[in-house]
Amino acid sequence: MHIIAENIIPELIDRAAAFEAVEAVFAAMARGDARNFPVIREELGHADALYGFKSGFDKAGLALGLKSGGYWPGNEAKGLTNHQSTVFLFDADTGRLKAVVGGNYLTAIRTAAASAVSIRHLAREDSRVLGMIGAGHQSAFQMRAACEQRDFERVVGWNFHPEMLSRLAETAAEIGLPFEEAGLDDLGAQADVIITITSSFSPILKAAQVRPGTHIACMGTDTVGKQEVEAELVARARLFTDEVAQSVTLGECQHAVAAGMISQDDITEIGAVINGAAPGRQSDDQITLFDGTGVGLQDLAVAEAALKLAIEAGKAVEVTL
Ligand code: NAD
Repeated sequence: MHIIAENIIPELIDRAAAFEAVEAVFAAMARGDARNFPVIREELGHADALYGFKSGFDKAGLALGLKSGGYWPGNEAKGLTNHQSTVFLFDADTGRLKAVVGGNYLTAIRTAAASAVSIRHLAREDSRVLGMIGAGHQSAFQMRAACEQRDFERVVGWNFHPEMLSRLAETAAEIGLPFEEAGLDDLGAQADVIITITSSFSPILKAAQVRPGTHIACMGTDTVGKQEVEAELVARARLFTDEVAQSVTLGECQHAVAAGMISQDDITEIGAVINGAAPGRQSDDQITLFDGTGVGLQDLAVAEAALKLAIEAGKAVEVTL
């Protein structure tokens, strides 16, 4: 079996490889070739930590395994990332352990790849302004991946903690785009594509702030109770997700479903659009919303890609069990 250390993963897998892996596994999910198993997430009662497992099996890509990890809020003070995870891959034919792969960087690039997949398939081709809501660790990955999907000319951003906006400004500068801080009314009035990537538990973006034709990728809501946009906005949009079961229970759609404003039948798996089995955007003035809840199969897909690239590059550590 192989070990792929966290610190070598950024050099191994690029955004294009992550995009390809995530798009392929979304397509496999929608065809019924891949499924996620029930998520386990528990409070440890130690170090204030949340810990759990996300797992699944992709019969098409033969990816079998789990991501184990969670959130340790005290880590930052120790110079560590608060989110910590590791992916375990197994041989689908024998059940033998195949690889242990660092999961921290992979989580960021697979999450960014998911919103990028949604932008590729759902945003208007003439999208020119990217709106970013959120300026935490994930936001820079999100912006870089999004900017590869459309010819954006500038980025506008808002964050609950304005002092964090420098991350967005620096990332936009690295990409070569101008960045402007904006209020939410202003951001909604200008943006063609909006990414929300926060840990908010109450709606930030309101229906009245979003203009027709906008594509919104809601990427922060991955837990019961979290919310980034008003339920009225969800009800007004044409809805897409990675997995309907997660969308209605712990994703952005949970609130509109609980309020009886939409049902799960209103939500289309993005994989069905990728496969050509369902329509995506139907007009230039439709609002499309992708509820990116984050599924275990995304982690397995990028971990498999990283494993293959590490073996090819001679950087995988081989251990005999
Ligand atoms: P982070 O801790 O680095 O940043 C948190 C962000 O949320 C910052 O922009 C912060 O200003 C904002 N925020 C904090 N409290 C807020 C509040 N009360 N109201 C509005 N905004 C608030 O976190 P991160 O690593 O960037 O992750 C952001 C979110 O994305 C988290 O909720 C995380 O769980 C989620 N996430 C989702 C997926 C997925 O697959 N969908 C994957 C990874 C992370």
